[in-house]
Amino acid sequence: MGKCYTCREVTIDQVRRAVDEAYEETKGLTGGKNASYIPFLAEADPNLFGLCVCLPDGSLVTAGDTKAVFGIESVSKVPTAILAMRQHGAEGVLKKIGANATGLPFNSIMAILLENDSPSTPLVNAGAIAACSLVKPKGDPEAKWNAITDNLAELAGSPLVLLDKLYASESATDFNNRSIAWLLKNYGRIFDDPEMSLDLYTRQCSMGVTCEQMAIMAGTMAADGYNPVTDTQVFDPDLAPKVTSLVTTVGFYQNTGNWLFEAGIPAKSGVGGGILGIMPGLFGIAAFSPPLDEAGNSVKAQAAIKAVMRKLDLNIFSGKRICQLTT
Ligand code: GLN
Repeated sequence: MGKCYTCREVTIDQVRRAVDEAYEETKGLTGGKNASYIPFLAEADPNLFGLCVCLPDGSLVTAGDTKAVFGIESVSKVPTAILAMRQHGAEGVLKKIGANATGLPFNSIMAILLENDSPSTPLVNAGAIAACSLVKPKGDPEAKWNAITDNLAELAGSPLVLLDKLYASESATDFNNRSIAWLLKNYGRIFDDPEMSLDLYTRQCSMGVTCEQMAIMAGTMAADGYNPVTDTQVFDPDLAPKVTSLVTTVGFYQNTGNWLFEAGIPAKSGVGGGILGIMPGLFGIAAFSPPLDEAGNSVKAQAAIKAVMRKLDLNIFSGKRICQLTT
């Protein structure tokens, strides 16, 4: 038997170089605009830019503003999907919400009207509001909120802090999401009080997170639910492929196919400018920069993650595997 030709070795130094080079190459990129429909996000410093990789031994490879706090926004849909699966099982979430792509924008009402029996996926607004409605214990907003924030802290390795101004800004302007919550109620696709579920969703989107915390969350998902920084098994390893499949299918909304085609890594974006990427068995990656493209995805964060993948010659769809990450 010859040597397995698909297996490769990557050193931590190579990852370090890839992150540094990717950061340097993409930091001068212009284009995109801060999210304008949430006033607080419109005012974020557009020059902030961070990139971080979380390795399986818990070490972080960082470049730029990786300790700056920003709004987690739609990236929070992934942790709460995990929480819903921890509480109801993967099958429960599949049955009640679904795991399909919508091919439509994140806040699409049309997507709800087109679907007959499920809000498609917990990673668009409709499904994320439905996921918040599923969080136990039913009917108790404070206990549900504690479950959501505890789960976030377990995944990130440290607590996230609510950005009060973002929460106020978003609550005052979330008319579209309010329509979604009530439409879900109309179709029997929300499993707790609609206003309460909407408020939990708005609050979770308003949590402040750093690029480092986001990379640790991604690293935990990449390591089958094991948080390598806190040395704890956060969720059942069997849920990990389900989580990655949800992220793969709809992480960039209507641009998901183009993203996967070009970047080769399942990733989830948020209008706060963050992107969380999962390379199963290898590492978690996060990048952050506020200016967004038309679909609501950070221009620089996308470019930085693509550059890291290219430099390490990695692609989740490629036959080439990295079998060893060495020091
Ligand atoms: N809170 C935002 C919203 O519901 C999140 C959207 C996003 O990050 N794509 O509109």
